[in-house]
Formats: sequence, C-alpha cells, structure tokens
Amino acid sequence: MIGITLFIVRSAAKTRRENMINHSKKLRLILGDQLNATHPWFKEVDDNCLYVIAELHQETSYVTHHQQKIQAFFAAMAAFANVLKEAGHRVLHLTLDETKQYKDLPDMLTNLLENNVQHFEYQQPDEYRLSQQLTLFCEKITSKNMSFSCVDSHHFFLPHHELTEHFKVDTSHRMEFFYRYMRKRFNVLVDDDNKPEGGKWNYDQQNRNKLKKKDIASIPAPLVFSHNVSEINDRLARHQVKTIGQGDSTLLWPINRQESLQLLDFFCRYLLPSFGTFQDAMTCNGDDVVTQKQWSLYHSRVSFSLNSKMLSPTLVVDTVLKHYQCNDAISIAQAEGFIRQILGWREFIRGMYWINMPQYQNKNSLKAKNNLPSWFWNGDTKMNCLHHAINQSLQYSYAHHIQRLMITGNFCLLTGIEPAQVDQWYLGIYVDAIEWVELPNTRGMSQFADGGLIASKAYAASGNYVNKMSDYCQSCHYNVKEKTSENACPLNSLYWHFMDKHSELFESNPRQAMVYRNWRKQTEEQRQATLAKAQDYLRNLDTL
Ligand code: FAD
Ligand code: SF4
Repeated sequence: MIGITLFIVRSAAKTRRENMINHSKKLRLILGDQLNATHPWFKEVDDNCLYVIAELHQETSYVTHHQQKIQAFFAAMAAFANVLKEAGHRVLHLTLDETKQYKDLPDMLTNLLENNVQHFEYQQPDEYRLSQQLTLFCEKITSKNMSFSCVDSHHFFLPHHELTEHFKVDTSHRMEFFYRYMRKRFNVLVDDDNKPEGGKWNYDQQNRNKLKKKDIASIPAPLVFSHNVSEINDRLARHQVKTIGQGDSTLLWPINRQESLQLLDFFCRYLLPSFGTFQDAMTCNGDDVVTQKQWSLYHSRVSFSLNSKMLSPTLVVDTVLKHYQCNDAISIAQAEGFIRQILGWREFIRGMYWINMPQYQNKNSLKAKNNLPSWFWNGDTKMNCLHHAINQSLQYSYAHHIQRLMITGNFCLLTGIEPAQVDQWYLGIYVDAIEWVELPNTRGMSQFADGGLIASKAYAASGNYVNKMSDYCQSCHYNVKEKTSENACPLNSLYWHFMDKHSELFESNPRQAMVYRNWRKQTEEQRQATLAKAQDYLRNLDTL
C-alpha cells in the first residue's frame, strides 16, 4: 500500500514537473553557489521563465566532501528555491532522487530543454570546471537553433570581464598593490585625496597577538544555527554519497540570507572589536577535544554565506564600515584587517584563479610527491597542533585561516606532499571550499606550487611559530624546544630540511636571507644531525 501511494505521489510530481517545463519558453539555471536573491534576474517575475536548481550527483562526487558541506549547500538551495517561489517565480527544485537518472549537468539540461524551451540562460560560474561544461553545452544547443546567454553573477566587486585588465597569466602579482587599487576604486577607508584613512594602508603588524589564558575566558561563544537535515542525510545514504567528517541531523551553518545577516551582525557587534588583534591566534586551552569556544575565536565564519552568494561582499564591507563608524571599540586596525580579507584577498585570489586556469591546477614548482599521511582523515596524530586543527575541521567543517595556512598547510609544505592530494583534502573538508578560492590558496599561497605567483615567500614555519601563536605545544607529545632529540618537535627539523632543500630558490629572497644566515651559522655536524632527523620523520610520516 505504502509502495502504491509513493508511486502515485511520485507520478504526480513528475507530471507537475513536465507541465512546468512544457509551459516555459526560457530556462534559467541556478548553480548551488549562486543563491543571490539580489541578482537582476529576480527583479521581475517572468511567467515564461522557469528557474532550475538541482542537487546533482556530479557535484557530490567530484571530490569527497565533508558531510556538513553537502548538508549546508543542499539545505541552502532548498531554502533559496522556496524564497523564489514565495516571490512569485516559477522554480523547479530537483533533489538527488529526481536527478539520479542524469549522467551529469549537461545531460540533465538536455532532457529539460527537450520540451518547449527556446532560450537557456546561466550565470557565469565561479569554477572553471562548470564554466567549461556549460560553454560546451551551449555550443551544442546553438546547433539545435536554441539561443543561450551567460550573464555576470553580480557578486564580486570586480565584474568578471574586467579580470584580464588586472591580472596577467603566469605572472607574479602582489595582493597589497591590488588591494590599494581596490580601496581607491571603491572608495573604502580612503580620504578625499585617495589617501588611506588613519595614514596606513595596512595594519597587519597589529594583528599578531597570542591569546593568553585570561583572553580565552572572554571569547564569545559562536552564534550557531540548528537545522534539521535528516532528510538530506537520508538522501545521501540512499544515493551512497561518500562523505568525510561529522555530520549528524542538526546543521549549525546558516542556510538563508536572513541567518547570514544575523551571523554578520553578531560578528560586527561581538567579534570585530578583537578580530584583527587575534586574527592569527590559535588555542586548544589544554583540551584534547575541540570545545565550543575555540573553533572560530574572533573570526566571522561568513565564508560559506559569501561563497554561496547568500551575502554579497559589498554588503559585508558596508556593514563592517557602518559598525566601525558607530562603535569606538572597533579601531581602524580591526576594521581594515577584516576589509582587507574581503576587498583584498578574496578578490585577488579570484583574479589569480581565472587568469591562470586551467594550467594552474597542475602546478608543482617544488616537485612535491609524497603521500598525505592517513591521519589527515581522522586527526590521529601525536602532533598536537595538527591533531587539533584536523579534528576541528572534521567536527565543524571549519578552520580559520592560520590553521589552514600555518598548521595543516605548513606541514604539507615542509613534508613535500603532492599538491593534488593537498587540494583534494582542502576542497573536500571545508564548508566554504569551492575551487576558485581553494585552489590558489592551497597551491599558491600555502604550497608555493605556483613558484611564487601569489605568495612573495614560502609560508614555511618551525615549531617556534606555532608556539608563538598558540598554546598547542604545551600539551604536545613532542618538545617544541628540541630539534634532534627523540621527541623533538617534527616541524623543527622538517623546517630546516625544507629550507636547505630549496635553498637555490629561496636564498636570494631578501625576506628569507636572515633564515639562511642562521642556517649557515650552525656547524656542519649540527646541520647534518638536523637533516638526518628530518629524513627519519619523512620516512615515518604516517606514525608521527
Ligand atoms: P575571516 O577570518 O572572518 O575572514 C573574513 C573573510 O575574508 C572570509 O570569510 C573570506 O571570505 C575572506 N578571506 C580571508 N582570507 C582569504 C583568502 N586567503 N582568500 C579568499 N578569501 C579570504 N577560503 C574560502 O572561502 N574557501 C576555501 O576553500 C579556502 N581554502 C583555503 C585553503 C588554504 C590552504 C588557506 C590558507 C586558506 C583558504 N581559504 C579559503 C581562505 C580563508 O582561510 C577562509 O576564507 C577563512 O578561513 C574563512 O573563515 P571566516 O569566514 O571565519 O574568515
Ligand atoms: Fe606542533 Fe611541534 Fe608544538 Fe607539537 S611541539 S604542537 S608538533 S609545533
């Protein structure tokens, strides 16, 4: 009986779907990271137009994603479809159950367009992979006399067509110069003479404090949401979607614009006053498990809302500016430190991605070829910094920038892990990971695999840096002060091994000259002992 009822319900849904498509002359595709309710598309209701938003197998399987990442995207897509429907638009929201027969996105579109549709439209995808797929698809439909158009996603500060004016392929660019241009161009924190407000373009030097015990007690608990995602979990199980990380039936990430705005407001009120000061700090507060307060500290966690376009970067920057202007507790260093991330880094990374794709995805300038240790997938390592950063990532699908760059990224850099494996890990594990922003950050900034197109130096660090910026070392199996003894911190010898191995590349860099002077000051015997210890650790990466 249940089987028959289910069959009738499904058939009715299928007929409704076919009717919707049959009555549409225009089909507009909304990708999962294009949940931008302020896009010009939605200004007017067009009865001839059908919006399609679909959960697709190709998107759940191009990499192994964190369960919370898929939950967050699917839940946000469903919520967006409802918002559009309530505004009077005609929307076809398809779940994995309804798209399972399609091989991929073009296959689904081919099927949907077979009816009365005469015109197909899509927004410029942020990922090269999808852009290519849709370009090829459109070439095919034009030969069938169907028209198509691709429009800007109206999300970023810089329109897509302008990127070639600011970035050159295979050429080093520095974020700082680009950022100054953006500040002037968009009139952000500049005076009437286009000079930086407060006299300095960059307050990075003031953003390097460690969290002391007394600071930890006053970190506000993060604002989290509580969405029931058991239906999504059932779907993932039904379709055997492989995932990583923890993902129970309650999702804490925002899934609509209203919640994203709440998160931004919470950040501006309670976190922004200390954002810059503790931007690079990390803590485990002596705990083995990740506690509520430690995982996002004073960071905004708006990356998922931004990357899915529920929030626009312009709105985020304007909101931060408003709070800065009204709240004396927010200094220029805090406001500038945050705005630099959005107006500077985020836009810069996007430009570098688009100008250098597709060759960028194969870059491996340091010829790194080791395998990622198996404990990257479960956090089971004696190195407390990595144990903590990885466990946190598995638990929350989140790590802040310095954890990504200077803990997991630094380890992969020092140990020469093959960049493709590093990319797979970063692209899968974080709720905000979309290739356009993950790839240049990972290959470029973190792994120096692009030979310095993005970073002016390799972000390599010994245990000393970790100890300076965190309390991780205090409860570690290894001794951060030691280099060659039995329990010496692995990062110490691995750091010198890395610098020694790549001395030809880095020794002439003025930013690293001092490092090499210190290395050469050591006796030959000391250097050999350090290199031997590093070799030993490199042979045993899986058991560190
Ligand atoms: P906050 O610290 O509060 O910063 C505010 C916002 O600034 C972020 O939400 C983000 O939109 C932007 N931002 C900050 N730094 C960067 C940056 N380097 N590049 C682009 N935007 C930046 N960010 C992603 O959005 N997706 C990724 O897949 C991603 N992968 C990364 C991989 C590595 C190896 C590294 C080093 C960094 C990566 N980042 C990525 C950048 C950054 O770590 C995250 O944007 C940030 O941690 C998100 O948390 P938040 O929103 O709390 O950020
Ligand atoms: Fe990490 Fe070394 Fe500190 Fe342990 S001692 S937490 S391995 S930096």
